[in-house]
Amino acid sequence: MNILVTGGAGYIGSITTAELIRAGHAVIVLDNLSQGHAAAVHPDATFIQGDLSDHAILSWLFDAHPNIDSIMHFASHTLVGESMQHPLKYLRDNTVNAANLLEHATTHGVQRFILSSTANLFNTPRTIPIAEYEAIIPGSPYGESKFFIERMLHWFACTSGLRYACLRYFNAAGGTPERGEDHTPETHLIPLILQVALGQRPHITIFGNDYPTRDGTCIRDYIHVLDLAHAHMLALDHLDHLQSHAYNLGNGTGFTVLEVIEAARRITGHPIPTVVGPRRQGDPPTLVASSERIRQELGWNPRYPHLDDIIRSAWEWHRAHPHGYQSPWSPPPVPSTSSGK
Ligand code: UDP
Repeated sequence: MNILVTGGAGYIGSITTAELIRAGHAVIVLDNLSQGHAAAVHPDATFIQGDLSDHAILSWLFDAHPNIDSIMHFASHTLVGESMQHPLKYLRDNTVNAANLLEHATTHGVQRFILSSTANLFNTPRTIPIAEYEAIIPGSPYGESKFFIERMLHWFACTSGLRYACLRYFNAAGGTPERGEDHTPETHLIPLILQVALGQRPHITIFGNDYPTRDGTCIRDYIHVLDLAHAHMLALDHLDHLQSHAYNLGNGTGFTVLEVIEAARRITGHPIPTVVGPRRQGDPPTLVASSERIRQELGWNPRYPHLDDIIRSAWEWHRAHPHGYQSPWSPPPVPSTSSGK
């Protein structure tokens, strides 16, 4: 297939791009590099730097690449905490950018769409693990923006025959030898813990230890980024015959923040000092997925279900890339006096 991957220079998008190329697909990456890294884009992908708010770029892109038949949409603002501080950045930009993409895609006849959605749709679940029939109560403007995009897809499906799937990830983690998690600023638990193990931070701050959980810290369901990538590929393969449009994706086992830190101590051999801080706004106490639907309907099966394996793969990438994609071998700047013109 010819697949447009928005956000293909980001963490999950770049690893999914590499897996798509490995499976023989042609991939075009559109990324504005606000969070992503050009170095993360697979060399066999066609890379276009551009923003989804830019209609001219979108028009040009679909005109220049008329073979695009599918879209995987990763590009968005993704931070729960930030969305509580800057709600419009999420409620407006994420939704308008997705609308722009849908407008241009459907005008150019693209009928296949996979959305990167989120567990943040489920702020107050009645049942853990969380299944797709759980009431959708977004926990933040971030979650609300993804829910609105899910609804847009529903209406595009009704009105223009779009085929789509929404994959609601719980906590993506881990890496491959070539690619890993590198955000500026970093806000995610596992890379922050590994930065402590690398001596780049003095301690990890635990955001609240007074939650109603077994040790007072938040429980999350960590899923290997490669297992997410494979779920995208499965959904795309089955898009013409999907029984459902939304799938929750996790391992079905929750770990507290303290348990994640303890696992990282085991794997890195570093004591990883901790400091307890206040709760982070927008964080629900427990998010654990039931992925029964995607297992049963699409035959998805995680290859890396164990937390230790997930953290170990992240650690291997971080140890090999202690400064992320800011590699020491980047080309020197072009001397300003060299041309003589
Ligand atoms: N967390 C923490 N300290 C940090 C970063 C995160 O205690 O420095 C907690 C956070 O409150 C949440 C869990 O770790 O309960 C996972 O957070 P992360 O930001 O990695 O992912 P999210 O759950 O927001 O998608």
